[in-house]
Amino acid sequence: MGLEQIKSRIAAAEAAAGRAKGEARLIAVSKVQPAERVEAVLQSGHRVFGENYVQEAAGKWPDWRAGYPGVELHMIGPLQTNKLKLALELFDAIHTLDRPSLAGKLARQVQSSGKCPQLFVQVNTGAEPQKAGILPEAADAFVAECRAMDLALTGLMCIPPDGHDPVPHFRALREIAARNGLAGLSMGMSADFEAAIAQGATHIRVGSAIFGDRLSRDTAGR
Ligand SMILES: *Cc1c(COP(=O)(O)O)cnc(C)c1O
Repeated sequence: MGLEQIKSRIAAAEAAAGRAKGEARLIAVSKVQPAERVEAVLQSGHRVFGENYVQEAAGKWPDWRAGYPGVELHMIGPLQTNKLKLALELFDAIHTLDRPSLAGKLARQVQSSGKCPQLFVQVNTGAEPQKAGILPEAADAFVAECRAMDLALTGLMCIPPDGHDPVPHFRALREIAARNGLAGLSMGMSADFEAAIAQGATHIRVGSAIFGDRLSRDTAGR
């Protein structure tokens, strides 16, 4: 598909939803992609990327950051607390604040490092047992808990269940965000980013539609 086509589809979806151009920020998800594909996208001028694995990002991004000024890197995968310190050095945003124990450790690290990434609370809108995230009914209390720890939240993130209409999930996320005074909505991937933009997404996470299929989605880079 490629970056340029995705950008024009985003612009069309924004226009169709009556939203201003650029309101939905494109995070190019570069996990487990060959370096030359990522470099081609960097060379075309795109600077906002997403990664799922701290270790993989640590191996790739310091050099690319040095070579391409203005890179903005988003952590979109599950975050282990033992990798938190490194994650704060690498990432400008974390989309996977998904449990109270992580919030507590993050609050301490933010204070001691002085680094303050954008933070999104991951909500398990489908209440799937195998999926990370705060359950929808617990989201208000969790947001309050984070704020009580002085964690400044940017918004909410969700990954709707496979094989289901994502729209009710996008809508549920938007409602939780609205009643908690949160402006950021990280939702929408290759298959459904246009629907997410129609529901108010501010950050869409698109991987395979830009870079092509990943070779080994779940094993590399851990
Ligand atoms: C891999 C991944 C994406 C990108 O998925 P595509 O279907 O390739 O666009 C988006 N969000 C999360 C959380 C991911 O893990």
